[in-house]
Amino acid sequence: MESLFSDQDLYPSGSGNNFADIILPVPIPRMFTYSIPYSMQSEINLGSRVIVQFGKKKVLTGIIGKVHNKPPQAYQAKPILEVLDDKPSVNPLQIRFWVWMAEYYFCHIGEVMHAALPTGLRLSSESKVQLNPNFDREESKYPLDAREILILDALENQPELSYDDCEKVLSIKSIHPILKSLVKKEAILIFEKVQEKYTPKVETRIRLTPEIAESKNALQEVFEALSGKAKQESILLKYLRDVPIMKLPKANTNGVDKATLLEEGDSESSLKTLIKNGIFESFKVVVNRLAEEEPESEPAVLSTSQQAAFEEIKHQFESKQTVLLHGVTGSGKTEIYIQMIREVLDSGSQVLLLLPEIALTTQIVTRLKKVFGSQMGVYHSKYSDNERVEVWNGVLSGRFSFVVGVRSSIFLPFDSLGLIIVDEEHESSYKQFDPAPRFQARDSAIMLAYFHQARTLLGSATPSFESYFNASQGKFGYVELTHRFGDATMPQFHLADMAADKRKNLLKLDTTRVLREKIQDALAKQEQVLIFQNRRGYSPYIQCEDCGWTGQCVQCDVSLTYHQFSEELRCHYCGYKEKTPSSCPACGSTQLTTMGMGTERIEESLSLLFPEARIGRMDLDTTRNKHGYQRLLDEFGSGNLDILVGTQMITKGLDFGRVTVVGIWDGDRILNFPDFRAGERAYQQITQVAGRAGRREAQGQVILQTRDPETQMYAQVIKGDYFEFFNHEIHDRKKFYYPPFVKLVKITTRHTDFKVAEKAALNLHHGMAEIPVKKIVLGPEKGIIARIKNQYQFESLIKLDRSGNTPVIFKEHLWKITEELKSRPEFRSVRFVVDVDPS
Ligand code: ADP
Ligand code: ZN
Ligand code: ZN
Repeated sequence: MESLFSDQDLYPSGSGNNFADIILPVPIPRMFTYSIPYSMQSEINLGSRVIVQFGKKKVLTGIIGKVHNKPPQAYQAKPILEVLDDKPSVNPLQIRFWVWMAEYYFCHIGEVMHAALPTGLRLSSESKVQLNPNFDREESKYPLDAREILILDALENQPELSYDDCEKVLSIKSIHPILKSLVKKEAILIFEKVQEKYTPKVETRIRLTPEIAESKNALQEVFEALSGKAKQESILLKYLRDVPIMKLPKANTNGVDKATLLEEGDSESSLKTLIKNGIFESFKVVVNRLAEEEPESEPAVLSTSQQAAFEEIKHQFESKQTVLLHGVTGSGKTEIYIQMIREVLDSGSQVLLLLPEIALTTQIVTRLKKVFGSQMGVYHSKYSDNERVEVWNGVLSGRFSFVVGVRSSIFLPFDSLGLIIVDEEHESSYKQFDPAPRFQARDSAIMLAYFHQARTLLGSATPSFESYFNASQGKFGYVELTHRFGDATMPQFHLADMAADKRKNLLKLDTTRVLREKIQDALAKQEQVLIFQNRRGYSPYIQCEDCGWTGQCVQCDVSLTYHQFSEELRCHYCGYKEKTPSSCPACGSTQLTTMGMGTERIEESLSLLFPEARIGRMDLDTTRNKHGYQRLLDEFGSGNLDILVGTQMITKGLDFGRVTVVGIWDGDRILNFPDFRAGERAYQQITQVAGRAGRREAQGQVILQTRDPETQMYAQVIKGDYFEFFNHEIHDRKKFYYPPFVKLVKITTRHTDFKVAEKAALNLHHGMAEIPVKKIVLGPEKGIIARIKNQYQFESLIKLDRSGNTPVIFKEHLWKITEELKSRPEFRSVRFVVDVDPS
């Protein structure tokens, strides 16, 4: 990864510089230079929020991204109006990381800032003023002038005013001096969403009044007085269950959460009576949304081979910044992570552990929580904004020295990372598709670690080609674990030939005989079964048997997916839906059949074949709501389900001891996807899902259904020979110029008018062809889906030589080309979406 960044670009703060570049929440791809008034010199820090005038009218809040002494050439710099923070909101390392990300992923620094700050901390696009709630006009010690009074009057009628509103109130242009004076007089507050959006969680708690808590006699009297008043007595007893008498009065101070106290159906009105009679009192406290938990178990003792791997990783970290831990499924990578994390935390540095999106609710988090307790923060994509702000603040305050999180957790305000671990580093969900920044969290993590002078540990049973390649070149360290932990053996594979079974009339509802037999065996022994079907490009659709008609979305060029449950055809891109027709809209035939085999259909087939089995299904449909995923896992984990059918979600990190059979419904479908990474992905997916089988005593059985059992890759997966597979595949990558030999950049040109989109894409293409670097420019092709949400799209793929400055030069030229194109009236509303390292 080439750094586009040199240390000279950032000066330490407060060094007598006259200009500051401000990151503003506007869709313009750069920072803006403002002058630093002499009086503010000492307050200017990188990462602090400031208020500046933007354009003629707007007043915006931004973040100081850089300070320097270079006046802008094209315009006269305006002064910074106000510094909002005593202490920076964002630390210099974060700013450095943002700058790198914007340059590397070819997006605006404002977009990176937007992605980096949780909504609760985001800058609003405009600064506003409000009355200071502590201000009392009559009692103010400062005299107010007529204009100031007008503003205050206006604020009495409206809770908030923008700078623009204030200018209108006074009909003058330069409003800031007046507002500033009002701030000095403590009459108003200038704010942006920061104060507004984040709301601390307040809990109402109940405790005994001090008179009663401090005297056993008084408590005795209360009991006597309450005899016969069952409802009130019940509340008192419940309170004393949580706060035992012998621990009074000390334990009384914290009281008990009111909601918990009333949980078992005790009445609120009885509690009110108790309060009215001076027995209980209620009080409020600000509490953490994120529960406190004490560590409850020790790290496991490492096996000999785990210990050896652990030592080897540390040894390699002495000379390499990044190490790849290649350990087969079930080899016990988690316990190695735990030891690494422990050591780094003990040395006083912070640790970040990245997990793929979905794995976050699984056992690994539970395991880590048990060892690290409340010094560990969890950053989940399904968290509310307030919860995210709490993790953010927890990192700032030092409450969380260790965070486990999804890809966006790389933006948390760490200031002294010692180690970043990327678990399942091959996972494609580490790449953000939309919106910008379209970053790869694994690659970005390596860069982030570099800025912190920290180490990165990448873990996987099936490394990405990029990482394995880097390891083979000596750029990364490499440590291998070839055996499962304990006595668990690797699973046994069966290639099940669907075509042969079909010829022999043994294929039933798309299941081969061997798959049926293995499932039957497992059910008989009360063991569990996982059935995997690849999600991508494989959703059921309706087709007319007579004329070939299929349902198409009216605004996207994609076929509609058939949802049996709701009897609907739906577009997965835009959400368009219609009722499933009873006859063909084109020819009127009633011979409409379902093509393709989604998880829903598989579930149905299995329930016909195994009517006695309890079957669950895990896919996007069944896990849409917040707890759907966890609920299914719990049901499966507790043995309430015999068979779980699922998509990619079931391949990730599940560790269930009773799973002995894994069925891969259709291996060919995984392999035949039109993408240069299809082979790599197929190897990974099959190995990962197979790795869920037989993780304890009993050996796992994996049945791989295929119509082409001769496929070479199957033999390699079955042998577990990643090295052979890699060597074979890497040869093709080199021959056809694909990563890791070239750097890919994908540019999508979008517009509502087909002709305009096409013309812009062609112009872009010709422009790029002229760029004087080694490269191949492909396209522009109509996108796989030519139209999405009424926008036509054309895709260009650029293969860049990796050496030297090529990517940097290319990007510089690309800016100029797209800017020039957008300045032409005909292309004004064309969008160019740039995706660096697309996956
Ligand atoms: P991986 O992530 O490499 O697939 P896991 O970390 O899930 O493997 O470990 C596989 C199983 O082995 C888990 O059930 C885990 O609890 C167990 N295990 C791993 N290492 C140890 C150890 N040192 N002591 C006890 N149990 C271990
Ligand atoms: Zn028809
Ligand atoms: Zn659509």
